[in-house]
Amino acid sequence: MNFDIIIRGGSVIDGTGADGRPAEIGIRDGRIAAIAPRLDVPAARIVDAAGKVVAPGFIDIKTHSDFTLPLNPKAESKVRQGVTTEVIGHCGFSVAPCIPGKVEALRQYLSPSAPWLTFRETTFTQYLDEYPALAVNTIMLCGHNTLRIMAMGMERRKPTADELAHMTRLLEEALEAGAFGLSSGLFTPPGAFSEPEELVVLGRVLKTRGARYATHIRDESEKVHEAVSEAIAFGEAVGVHVQIVHFKLSGMENWGHAQDALDTLDAARRRGVQIDVDQYPYTAASNPLRNLLPAWLQEGGDMELIDRLGKAEVRARVKRELADKGLNNFGRIPSWDAVRVSISPNQSQYAGRTLGDIAAERGIDPDDAVFDYVIADKAATRVVVTSIAEDDVRTILKCPFVLVGSDGNAVAPYGITGQGRPHPRFYGTFARVLGHYVRDEKLMPLALAIRKMTGASADALGLVDRGYLREGYRADITVFDPATVAETATYAEPHRYATGIPTVVVNGALVIDHGEHTGALPGHVLRRGTDSRA
Ligand SMILES: [Zn+2]
Repeated sequence: MNFDIIIRGGSVIDGTGADGRPAEIGIRDGRIAAIAPRLDVPAARIVDAAGKVVAPGFIDIKTHSDFTLPLNPKAESKVRQGVTTEVIGHCGFSVAPCIPGKVEALRQYLSPSAPWLTFRETTFTQYLDEYPALAVNTIMLCGHNTLRIMAMGMERRKPTADELAHMTRLLEEALEAGAFGLSSGLFTPPGAFSEPEELVVLGRVLKTRGARYATHIRDESEKVHEAVSEAIAFGEAVGVHVQIVHFKLSGMENWGHAQDALDTLDAARRRGVQIDVDQYPYTAASNPLRNLLPAWLQEGGDMELIDRLGKAEVRARVKRELADKGLNNFGRIPSWDAVRVSISPNQSQYAGRTLGDIAAERGIDPDDAVFDYVIADKAATRVVVTSIAEDDVRTILKCPFVLVGSDGNAVAPYGITGQGRPHPRFYGTFARVLGHYVRDEKLMPLALAIRKMTGASADALGLVDRGYLREGYRADITVFDPATVAETATYAEPHRYATGIPTVVVNGALVIDHGEHTGALPGHVLRRGTDSRA
């Protein structure tokens, strides 16, 4: 029988961590039909991969592309890095479920992250069933912060028994629909207002359905070690798979301590806790500007935050807390020059400038300039914060069990998602690991880097037929040139595609061909239990 595509002449690195070997791959009906030294069978299309690496399609295990994929289903910034599957709904933030009467609350809450998305009432089942055709596959998580907003708004207290039962029902519905699990964002309200017991109750729902838990841990700066311990304790108490997302040590006082935290995680893994970690390879983070300020400011929501920041006594208290402890979540930074406006829906003229620079231009105290900015932008500003040490980035990246995830959205240089100056990780994460860190810096072997983007991520997600190049598996395949693969996106000019990735196949269809997007949208929603072990 003929093949649809043969990928010929490349070095096959299969996702197990094994080195490359010369082989040809035959694709038929969306699956890998054959892998052999030579395939002398006719094919509708031969892809010449001479001098290239043929790898499983990259799984971006940590994204927020639910906020952008419906606006541009071609997934340009990701598929051009070789990504074939996006995991969305992370950090406690999901677009679904959204129950009657809560559309405006959810829209406002997510405005610094999803400024262009249309929100509507939806069950999780409707959300999955109506998701548009995309260039890449998607895996959905249900967000704890979203559940809390549905059940009890932005209240800073424990849920009542009824409210917790409401969250439980919504989570059960999401898991039945095919969500892979629950995500939490314990660093920011309202997730920050929850206690571990609340999460353990929801975790038991995950356990009964074989679902997973991904967490933006409670603190990534001075209490990062306690926060890692909380995630491990959750895994031990509930017995489900835990993923710590975008792992980092933020704030100058925490720099140099990455290995301590990795040792703690390694010890937990050795005693049988199912825990994985992912990381993006940059020294800057990205977040809503409001989350850099003390969490208590957000109690009740954005309108109350804006109202509070107008009061002199509140400003004085916030200034004291910033001076004493540094930024909330991010720790101490050298100055507001380390914080750059990324996307600013109501003051877009400032995108790309630092808050220190804006304060200097106005000739006022930098903290006041930040408070004024939050008020003027209705709390919807997104910023890039340089708060991580390069040595720690490298220590975490080369740790054998750490996975690669972008924490970035699928966007494009054109159209609605081309606005502002997003973090360059949206365009560069995977190419930066393969080009800068593996080829140029020789931080780790190429086959290990690929494993951290493919097979190991598929294992962490429990995928049954993706993440490896194996006969019978789905044909998600990325072909790249190890000599030229590189990121070109920078903080100043982030809307630039990665280079050196000529071919990307999703579900057996060419999405990137000769380095260009074909317009094909062969991706679909992967469902727990069908596409994963559950
Ligand atoms: Zn996060």
